[in-house]
Amino acid sequence: MYHRIDNLTPDQSRSPLMRDLTVPTADFEAQVKYLADNGFTFLLASQVETALRNHQPLPQRAVAITMDDGYKDNFEKAFPILQKYHACATIFMVTNNFEKPDRLSWSDARTMRDGGLGYGSHTVSHADMTTLPGDRLDYELCESKRILEQGLHVPITSIAYPSGAYNQTVIERTRAAGYLAGWKKGGGPVQPGSEPYMLPRVRVHGKTDMEAFHRKVWSGYWTMRMNAAAQQMVASNHVRHARQRPA
Ligand SMILES: [Zn+2]
Repeated sequence: MYHRIDNLTPDQSRSPLMRDLTVPTADFEAQVKYLADNGFTFLLASQVETALRNHQPLPQRAVAITMDDGYKDNFEKAFPILQKYHACATIFMVTNNFEKPDRLSWSDARTMRDGGLGYGSHTVSHADMTTLPGDRLDYELCESKRILEQGLHVPITSIAYPSGAYNQTVIERTRAAGYLAGWKKGGGPVQPGSEPYMLPRVRVHGKTDMEAFHRKVWSGYWTMRMNAAAQQMVASNHVRHARQRPA
């Protein structure tokens, strides 16, 4: 889970929030290169959602890069790096942000779509949906989906909850609006059986160094390996107990 990919100006660097949101361009390239060099399969968020829904296996080494909010640097800085390493990503777009300064234009978004990137909604106005009355909540969900589908001619099946804020009502209205999945702000790697409207993500911060990045990207792989080992232990205990039982 990323937001901005860029090198900050000295002015921007003074803001702790900006520093946290922004991964330096060279760091992002090193991270994508690491994933490519280590045989990770790059997936769109929608491919993860589909595999979960259909109980289909995914490659052991798989990663879905996501970028929230729709910053211009996603197109100017991140996209060329993704292209260079034959990687893809999914952008969760706040539709009100289109054409604003420092934000994506429709033309940027279409170029990236044609380059293999995927899209999801991040609502119309980045509102905290847990605080909205029903009609405003439905508007944020339905209108952002409609605008993205009309402008990009791709089905929009998922949403990333702004600030990761959701509750039971938000989940119910998200489902009713026709979304098949909802993504949170953090929570670790996606696992088989993850709740489709509470999908976790692993956040990469501006200060995330390579060592921390390694831990983050391997966390899903090691969780799967540990679960498999635990299952094997349970199974072999069953066999041993069965053998020890007197005939
Ligand atoms: Zn956001």
